[in-house]
Amino acid sequence: MTVQKESMIVLIINAGSSSLKYQLINMHPDAHDHDVMASGVVERIGESQGKLTHKKISGQKNAKFIKEQQINDHGIAMHLAAGMLTDKDAGVISTINEIDAVGHRVVQGGENFNASILIDDDVKKAIRDNYPLAPLHNPPNLTGIEVAESLFPSIPNIAVFDTEFHQTIPQKAFMYALPYEFYEKFRVRRYGFHGTSHKFVSNSAADLIKINKEELNLITVHLGNGCSICAIEKGRCVDTSMGMTPLAGVMMGTRTGDIDPAIQKYLIEYTNLNAEELDNIFNKKSGLKGICGMNDMRDIHSAANRGNERAQLALEMFAYQVKKYIGAYVAVLGSVDGIIFTAGIGENDTVTREMICSNLTGLGIEIDPSRNSEVSSEPRAIHSGSSKVQVWVVPTNEELQIAREVVNCLY
Ligand code: AMP
Repeated sequence: MTVQKESMIVLIINAGSSSLKYQLINMHPDAHDHDVMASGVVERIGESQGKLTHKKISGQKNAKFIKEQQINDHGIAMHLAAGMLTDKDAGVISTINEIDAVGHRVVQGGENFNASILIDDDVKKAIRDNYPLAPLHNPPNLTGIEVAESLFPSIPNIAVFDTEFHQTIPQKAFMYALPYEFYEKFRVRRYGFHGTSHKFVSNSAADLIKINKEELNLITVHLGNGCSICAIEKGRCVDTSMGMTPLAGVMMGTRTGDIDPAIQKYLIEYTNLNAEELDNIFNKKSGLKGICGMNDMRDIHSAANRGNERAQLALEMFAYQVKKYIGAYVAVLGSVDGIIFTAGIGENDTVTREMICSNLTGLGIEIDPSRNSEVSSEPRAIHSGSSKVQVWVVPTNEELQIAREVVNCLY
């Protein structure tokens, strides 16, 4: 399908198990420009009291609207969101027919997808076939797609996969050293996640560093509630820290990151916990939270500044683990043009960035303390004049990347 328009209104949908986030973006593909028109989140879908928070955006002005009521399912959530987008006060379009296309975040595309794709029955089947690999994410993602198809029957729906950017990782890096048949029969391998974010910041970095994407070697460091690091060689992802699931890699807000796989058996043997309970602990009660009881970096810094030793330990462990991945990926890439920090911690946490980049002069990485301490929501360089590797902070924008994928897919 080809859409020939100078500007396109794209609705971005990110459906979770009990939530639905949306953003309406007016894309001006010819001018490589865009306006965010509205955004919102519907929470507690399926519970007795649901909540929709909608933001109408016009220029620099935002107006917030909140609706609280029972929201039984994603279909009702989507209807409420569409109602907000066309509401006489909260709305930004007069009818839903003004929406040209819908872009869906889909977490797990397995090995089926190395690009965003127009959704048809085969694509939906593949998303369903990948349920076992992402049981918490792919089912609500598909529900979001089906609800959008019924509400907007005449416009294209595009799937954008978290995993697609990592499909260029070579087999030596995506395989686990398990019996080969586990890969063949059960698809056990590294898939990687946060691909949309890594793609967005690496594309932005090519413009900022002024080197063609095809010649640029980067390490992108996405540090938010979830954390992942990518080695990008000549514009293509060649390794990433997350694995078959988003539990692997560096420690995160509540997730373990890499741990010895034998720990699970040991704990099952010596505690009353079973595999499912441990899985819950590894995902929700570990990481920064497991070490110091807190998972918001701002609270952890305040506690560490007050002398809380566990908070200090959590900070040191976190920075140490990220530093190790950067060192590993310098080795993978051979030479690195830039290190890009992004997401909540990567964009805002001066102290953690400084801890991560300390003592890396031997690898040609040196940040400038005063540039690093600048507070800004703009992309900015933070390396020193003598650093061989450029170090940048680049705010991520996954919704905009999804909208770009939609435009690319349709033009
Ligand atoms: P995200 O998942 O990208 O929204 O990032 C969430 C993480 O960013 C949380 O751990 C927050 O504590 C952290 N974060 C947000 N703002 C700041 C800040 N100013 N300083 C330190 N950490 C921050």
